[in-house]
Amino acid sequence: MRKKQFKAESKKLLDMMINSIYTHKEIFLRELISNASDATDKLYFKSLTDSSINASADDLKIRIDLDKEKRTITISDKGIGMTADELEKNLGTIARSDSLDFKKENEGSEGIDDVEVIGQFGVGFYSAFMVSDKVEVVSKALGSDEANKWISEGVDGYTVEPCEKEETGTTVTLYIKENTENDNYDEFLEQYRIEELVKKYSDYIRYPIVMEMTSQVPDKDNEGEYITEINDEILNSRVPLWRKNKSEIKNEDYNNFYKQKFYDYTDPALVIHTKTEGQATFDALMFIPKNAPMDFYSKDFEKGLQLYSNGVLIMDKCPDLLPDYFSFVRGLVDSADLTLNISREVLQHDHQLKIIAKAIEKKIRTELSKMLKKDREGYEAFYNTFGIQLKWGIYADYGMNKDSLKDLIMFKSSNGGYTTLKEYRERMADSQESIYYASGDSEEKIALLPQCEAIKEKGYEVLYFTDDVDEFAIQMLMEYDGKHFANILKDDVDLSTDDEKKELEAKNENAREMLEKMKGFIGDEVTAVRFTNKLGSHAVSLSAEGFVSLEMAKVLSQMPGADENVKAQLVLEINSEHSIAEKLLNADDEKLEKYTKILYNQARLIAGLSINNPTEFSDTICEMM
Ligand code: ADP
Repeated sequence: MRKKQFKAESKKLLDMMINSIYTHKEIFLRELISNASDATDKLYFKSLTDSSINASADDLKIRIDLDKEKRTITISDKGIGMTADELEKNLGTIARSDSLDFKKENEGSEGIDDVEVIGQFGVGFYSAFMVSDKVEVVSKALGSDEANKWISEGVDGYTVEPCEKEETGTTVTLYIKENTENDNYDEFLEQYRIEELVKKYSDYIRYPIVMEMTSQVPDKDNEGEYITEINDEILNSRVPLWRKNKSEIKNEDYNNFYKQKFYDYTDPALVIHTKTEGQATFDALMFIPKNAPMDFYSKDFEKGLQLYSNGVLIMDKCPDLLPDYFSFVRGLVDSADLTLNISREVLQHDHQLKIIAKAIEKKIRTELSKMLKKDREGYEAFYNTFGIQLKWGIYADYGMNKDSLKDLIMFKSSNGGYTTLKEYRERMADSQESIYYASGDSEEKIALLPQCEAIKEKGYEVLYFTDDVDEFAIQMLMEYDGKHFANILKDDVDLSTDDEKKELEAKNENAREMLEKMKGFIGDEVTAVRFTNKLGSHAVSLSAEGFVSLEMAKVLSQMPGADENVKAQLVLEINSEHSIAEKLLNADDEKLEKYTKILYNQARLIAGLSINNPTEFSDTICEMM
């Protein structure tokens, strides 16, 4: 019979499996059992809605058989089965191609190799080839009269041919490799070892995993003698991890469960396991990942928790269980209060589900607060990855959730490192009227802004806003604990004394004619040019008047369908104490125009804006030099 070739990607993966030096080859069993369990799930599901299918208790079992002589392990299920086409499609191509994408992306980076790809993702069916040199899959699909046999000895390809099989379901037979110098494969033919592996990796599988066990029992008729008994035994406890008592669960169990179930390769940053009774009764097991999934910030990302009804999965990603600002949470909810055959549409309006969602939101919030208090380092790491989500949460829905989130957000500040608003507030002197902030591309750049230096010199702390959302969130928040937020790059921050104010006013008044001329030289791009005393030792700066700040204008102009009219009202500010002020006052009109253009362009650069005509700018500077 003609051999068919594996798809290119599959071949690569297969090759990796066969030649693997991976030390946890034992995971092949977990992968095959998990496939058998999925297939049984599918059958069970169908039987719930289709009365012509009845799944007896015996159908809902997974069997393992060992044959030392033939060196085989057989894993059988009576699940949904596969047609010839499905055998081709499912086993001829690797389903989870993201494991290879992952490998490609990380190629060359330290510590990522075949071994880790295998360990991190679990690679399903092909892992069988880590321990066997031939694999046979015999399958009969539900509702089909004929069965088929898929056979492969590795990268050479595979064959599919019709065969006999009485019952619906799938039987996977592995021909175990001979021992080598470095690897012991015989162990996988030992009952005790298989029992151990099932307990370790597949204990929570819902269906009984049955194996024939040989045991020595005392002989009733002959005292002191033993007889050999062979019985079918169930190897797994079948209690899902989330149903167990917290006291029975080790950290490692949570971590393993998370990594297996959500295909992550690092332990979670936070585990939240809760059992709730009352208005709604449910168990929830949730995780906050250490790293954002690859597609987290893309359109394709779907938030949601798995939803179980009494241990049976009814939805893989139920979005209604998580608010957007907690979309990074992975996990599941199991409740007996929900019916099995509920459709997505009905579920959305389900009263019980709403109560559960509310309780879950609160639980996540409480756990994050706890983490912030008890594990600052951990929280900051979490915040670096997902903090932006919380800030959007404050802004979203017209600020509906701002009060519950405001103590979870942090900003970098001139105090060094992250600060919460509460901490900032506690450090504020009585005389300080507002909470000061400034926006820019990076902390370093903000710290160097003339206005920022001036404020810091006065002993005040400045929050550094570096994310687009920051100012929008703060505008929504408006105040914290009775103190308003003030943008130091806008005109509403004035720390000078009454005398200083008067003096400045006079200077502006005296130079009015010149300042107006300067405004004329620049044109409509600024609403005014004026002297200021807020720039410390620096010469010029741009500030914004009105509602829209410079940073907000930048963000808004980048949004699709940007509104041309949303522009910051810019004011060119010149340090009245700086020697440049004198020069301006003494310049003739021709010089004044050149000085003005240079100063304006400098101010734009400082604010992180581009300049309209860099060549002219450069030429003018050279001319003046
Ligand atoms: P995954 O399980 O992650 O999808 P696998 O490589 O383990 O990837 O399996 C590929 C596909 O083959 C499965 O998605 C499933 O459709 C099918 N399959 C594997 N084992 C069985 C089985 N025992 N019964 C029915 N279908 C199976």
